[in-house]
Amino acid sequence: MQPSAQLEQVLKQHGQSVTAARQAVLAALQGQEPLTMGELVIRCNDIDRATVYRSVALFERLSIVQRLQAGWKYKLELSDAFHEHHHHATCLHCGQVVPLSEDPKLEAYLHDLAVAYNFTLRKHQIELSGLCATCQPTVGSL
Ligand SMILES: [Zn+2]
Ligand SMILES: [Zn+2]
Ligand SMILES: [Zn+2]
Repeated sequence: MQPSAQLEQVLKQHGQSVTAARQAVLAALQGQEPLTMGELVIRCNDIDRATVYRSVALFERLSIVQRLQAGWKYKLELSDAFHEHHHHATCLHCGQVVPLSEDPKLEAYLHDLAVAYNFTLRKHQIELSGLCATCQPTVGSL
């Protein structure tokens, strides 16, 4: 299903209307790595800032968007329902976010770990932080 059609479905299921602004916020988040709220506002420059904030709040409530915590900051990304499941490695120096594609061994291990604690796993996020290839030679150890 197209993400825009999927968005319509989720909004309608929750009695929310499908607006051009909401579609534009979805489009801005699509097909790329996580954005900060500031970056998202810039990408949605023909939409009122408050509308972008409200759309994101709604998307978070409906699990369309998830927050990735990086220290005290966070970035926004489409949830796994809209985006293939993956993890991230964030560079502590330049802030670059490298997507790590899904690793079946890791996923299976997390599942087994949850089961060992009699826990049903619904979702998880894994965020690695360190230095990217570009920053390693210049920064050394932080
Ligand atoms: Zn991502
Ligand atoms: Zn870096
Ligand atoms: Zn995973």
